[in-house]
Amino acid sequence: MRKNGLVISIDGPAGTGKSTVGKAIAQKLGYGFLSTGELYRALAYKVFEAKIPPQDGEQVLALAQRLKFTFVRQPDAVLKMHVDGEVLGPKLHLEDVGNVASQVSTHKEARAVLTEKMRQAGQDGGIVMEGRDIGTVVFPDAEVKFYLSASAQERAKRRVKQLQEAGVNPDYDKILALIEERDYRDSHRAASPLKPAQGAIIIDTSTLTQEQVVESALEKISRYGS
Ligand code: C5P
Repeated sequence: MRKNGLVISIDGPAGTGKSTVGKAIAQKLGYGFLSTGELYRALAYKVFEAKIPPQDGEQVLALAQRLKFTFVRQPDAVLKMHVDGEVLGPKLHLEDVGNVASQVSTHKEARAVLTEKMRQAGQDGGIVMEGRDIGTVVFPDAEVKFYLSASAQERAKRRVKQLQEAGVNPDYDKILALIEERDYRDSHRAASPLKPAQGAIIIDTSTLTQEQVVESALEKISRYGS
């Protein structure tokens, strides 16, 4: 047993509700919650700011090695990320930053640097970590592993609704194309491609509410060790 409890991994493509579900589970268990896409998004943002071409693996690696990440647990379970002492905030969630993140995340050596940061944040347990390779690479020894899936169309619909609620009027076909492009890149890259980890519990969220997914996940976690 780890010092602070279990490591629970949640992997799956964008738009399957990993963050909402992971945060809800962490709150129920009194654990911390880390969305690891934040680290890739931060690297992407810094790559963009430094005008480094995202495909230049050496420069992306050098930048990743220079960045200092710290995490501060918030009352709502979220581990808030500081990069070189700064909170980068909502700008990390712009569509374009996500796309550059998916490009910089194809570099194996830069991934290794970020993976090490994630391990440091989670090794004592008491954490729910969400991403693409948590159960396969970051914590292959996670006590409970989940893989959330949903059709690309359903995920595009959810994203459109989210953006509409934020006052943007997005084009469904464009969002769907971006999702499919990102899925393809994430699941076909040579370094840590997106796939269910061995022993992962797969939940198809297409026809479930978030509450149902959380309930089902908590039920599976309660069976751990029994
Ligand atoms: O989950 P989120 O959309 O914030 O992640 C942004 C991008 O970061 C993903 O499309 C993926 O390319 C990359 N990522 C990754 N491994 C993780 C988390 C995110 O490669 N563990």
